[in-house]
Amino acid sequence: MTADLKAFTGAASRSLDRRAKGWISQAHHAIRSAMNICVFCGSSLGAREDYREAAWRLGKTLAERDIGLVYGGASVGLMGVVADAALEHDGPVYGVLPKALADLEIAHDNLTELHIVTSMHERKAKMADMSDAFIALPGGIGTLEEMFEVWTWSQLGFHAKPVGLLNVAGFFDGLERFLDNLVSEAFVKQAHRSILCADEDPGALMDKLAAAELPKDRKWVDELRR
Ligand code: AMP
Repeated sequence: MTADLKAFTGAASRSLDRRAKGWISQAHHAIRSAMNICVFCGSSLGAREDYREAAWRLGKTLAERDIGLVYGGASVGLMGVVADAALEHDGPVYGVLPKALADLEIAHDNLTELHIVTSMHERKAKMADMSDAFIALPGGIGTLEEMFEVWTWSQLGFHAKPVGLLNVAGFFDGLERFLDNLVSEAFVKQAHRSILCADEDPGALMDKLAAAELPKDRKWVDELRR
């Protein structure tokens, strides 16, 4: 083959590669689920089998309802369980994992899409952008931090996406009592407290999220007008 012909075939094959990648990416976006729910949950399994079972039922229910799962992208703990359940029932699963945690939390290697980001902040922003609602399963500090942050965003009117607690085996009972206390003590409005739905059943919780009406007033607007 002459040098000219080599250069021509090389360029043609690179251009075909680019076009093929473009087609694949377009097809991928077209088949992305119409609705996604972001799940925050433990990177551990917790002390009870109930937590693992609930994570599995949640992943299965999302897939059965054609709802995409957005989550932290790990293969460990309840995070891995919810992702495996959705994948096993043919649901799309989108993981968002900071580069620094890819080894520690062991990136799931079988996701529909795995987005590697540079920071925790980028992770949370991307997970929120990709999702229409949020559910927290039992978990630790990370789970609570993520859930509280998106809840505060709705209180401030940064988004209008409902947030729910999957209250497995009464895991969130103590937190719910404490949150009610914040309303009694006039630190949180009932309307903002009510954004946070709870149920022990994944399907019933999703129904509550779908029916949730988010308050139109932002936290600070009333106070500033007084
Ligand atoms: P945990 O509930 O502590 O097991 O953590 C659950 C998930 O939350 C893990 O993927 C953690 O990496 C993640 N996480 C912890 N802190 C943060 C944070 N500040 N921003 C985003 N994700 C976090």
